Amino acid sequence: MAPGDPILLPAGNPGPYTGEGNNTWLIDGAQPTLVDAGTGQPGHLEAIAEALDGRPLARVLVTHDHSDHASGVAAIRECWPDVEVLAVAAARSPARTLIDGERVPAGSRMLQVVYTPGHAADHVCFWDPVRRELFSGDLLLASGSVVIPAGRGGDLAAYLASLERVAALGPVRAYPGHGPVIDDPAATIAAAIERRRQREADIARLLDEGLTADAIVDRLYPDLTGPLRQAAALTVEAHIVRIRQTGPSR
Ligand SMILES: [Zn+2]
Repeated sequence: MAPGDPILLPAGNPGPYTGEGNNTWLIDGAQPTLVDAGTGQPGHLEAIAEALDGRPLARVLVTHDHSDHASGVAAIRECWPDVEVLAVAAARSPARTLIDGERVPAGSRMLQVVYTPGHAADHVCFWDPVRRELFSGDLLLASGSVVIPAGRGGDLAAYLASLERVAALGPVRAYPGHGPVIDDPAATIAAAIERRRQREADIARLLDEGLTADAIVDRLYPDLTGPLRQAAALTVEAHIVRIRQTGPSR
């Protein structure tokens, strides 16, 4: 870790949706700022306190109001009553609603809010234009696909537009909400777009063959069960919504 790098503080909430659990990122400096709140696990709160070494936490930036990223806000407020919570939607009663393009102090940096809906309607990334680093929430994963939950704020067309938007910034590193740091965001974004295009072509073909959404999920994800199958089904539904709106991107 180089000086000034964000400090990874794992949220300690492993599970079927979260993999090994969420990442939260402490940006240290004049105004210690945490990107994403986790779920309020005692070990996570202790790790934050240890890293702060008696200083108050100035701010929490919430990438989106999913419980694994936002539900820990209440516990953080109990530990640091003066903390400022900023988010786009109603995420856990933010002090103020973030606006696309605005700048917020974080550590000793200034981060720019980049509205990136798709995985969630209120999803934002936080962009450091000096270090060219992106705090990317659930926009990107180093490996695997992001869930686009149709009917629950997921929007595939918006997701693809958000990926293009972030690619245009030219990030050199991305700090995601799950999994390892992304050291080649351009390649990761290109792969995510390509995977979605291929999936969309597959799904359009299976729709043409007369398969139902449920049968398409079984065909494309034969090994998934339980909550992971449910997540895949919602993403397939998001593809079907987009195909019906615009035609497949073949
Ligand atoms: Zn999420």
